[in-house]
Amino acid sequence: MKKLQEKDLKYVWHPCSQMKDYEKFPPIVIEKGKGVFLEDIEGKKYLDAVSSWWVNLFGHSNQRISDALYNQANSLEHVIFANFTHKPAIELCERIVSLTPDRLQKVFFGDNGSSAIEIALKLSFQYHQQIGKTKKTRFVNISDAYHGETIGALSMGDVDLYSKVYKPILLDSEKVDGPDCFRCKYNKERNTCNAECFINMEEKIKQIHQEVSAIIIEPLVQCAAGMKIYSPKYLVKLRELCDKYDINMIADEIAVGFGRTGKMFACEHADISPDIMCLSKGLTAGYMPLSLVLMSNKIYDAFYDEYDTMKAFLHSHSYSGNPLGCSIAVETLNIFEDEDVINKNKIKSEYLRNKVESVLKEIPNVGEYRQIGMIGAIELVKDKNTKEPIDYEKRVGYNIYQKALKKGVLLRALGNIVYFMPPYVITEEEIDFMVDVAKDSIIEYFNENKL
Ligand SMILES: *Cc1c(COP(=O)(O)O)cnc(C)c1O
Repeated sequence: MKKLQEKDLKYVWHPCSQMKDYEKFPPIVIEKGKGVFLEDIEGKKYLDAVSSWWVNLFGHSNQRISDALYNQANSLEHVIFANFTHKPAIELCERIVSLTPDRLQKVFFGDNGSSAIEIALKLSFQYHQQIGKTKKTRFVNISDAYHGETIGALSMGDVDLYSKVYKPILLDSEKVDGPDCFRCKYNKERNTCNAECFINMEEKIKQIHQEVSAIIIEPLVQCAAGMKIYSPKYLVKLRELCDKYDINMIADEIAVGFGRTGKMFACEHADISPDIMCLSKGLTAGYMPLSLVLMSNKIYDAFYDEYDTMKAFLHSHSYSGNPLGCSIAVETLNIFEDEDVINKNKIKSEYLRNKVESVLKEIPNVGEYRQIGMIGAIELVKDKNTKEPIDYEKRVGYNIYQKALKKGVLLRALGNIVYFMPPYVITEEEIDFMVDVAKDSIIEYFNENKL
């Protein structure tokens, strides 16, 4: 292991990391994976409780997906997608249109989540230019949003940690205070919540709607902000507002799509249809980078004209519509159907909830446990009564993550939030193991450290 780690650190720059941390905590060299487990080159196993950054749905080295990839690679690995097409892309788009909310009728390809966001922003902007609403040039997002790391996507985010240094070169987006249910200022009784916080959006949009091209939102769960779950009523109100003022509603379902929240797409909880939807992550069950941007015919039609009107959408990526990615995505949809995944996940989700709730009393400093579908999050706080957060500099989550790894669970926290987002193939026994390791690691941390 050591030799490979040294070589890695000689050449490789890892994502979302301070590389100096790796001096004390070098990268683990993974050799293989099977189901929910990863295995390093020394044979130590790790339960992948974060689905390898929220992408894996059906386990590592899934036989069906691997076969789909192998078969496709043996017939067509890639072809230019301008003026050419292929069966996997056609089948994928036909099926995804039938699965997603009804306004979404056309599909454009990107090759990762951030590029899908860039496509969505460009589409919305150009759409308004071409229908004569040329003043609609701005985008609105909500607090704690996360939409990716490229310049446009980063501009739509509100996680300072990732974006602060780039402020001078980011697009000017208009941020509105969004839902903050754990520390809600509007309604202390969560079960009577009527998304009162939406008033912020309503008031802002009333003032600036003539300049607004789109409002972008992560439906139901703001994952990167710490698995912040909010009411579907917020989305219902947002849909109405966007319709009222001719604003495109962009739903970023990159993390929450494909069953994560208990329904195939998070927008279904609110029974609404966005004008544009971005999909990636689970789309290929964690096998290949691929993304889709779905849009309404209304938007598509504004680009459809004679070439010399220059209305076409001239966006492209070298790997647009990659057949390997498409065939895997089709197989992912097959698995959802054949194996009744959404219904089976309901049982697993309940099991996870009961398991966490049964150990919660033993864990110190829990502000709240929140869960929806196959996403569960324990928010650790300095003081349960005041909900005062733990200082970021303490790196509590990072320390707990290291402890859990030693015990065989990959549990990469977000700040002070320890969360579970396992592959759907996890068994009850594996859920027990995952939650017990989380509990033990948190207890150990607080026994060793005073806040
Ligand atoms: C991960 C993520 C993105 C960015 O996707 P990448 O493939 O990492 O570029 C965008 N939005 C949300 C909600 C995400 O979780």
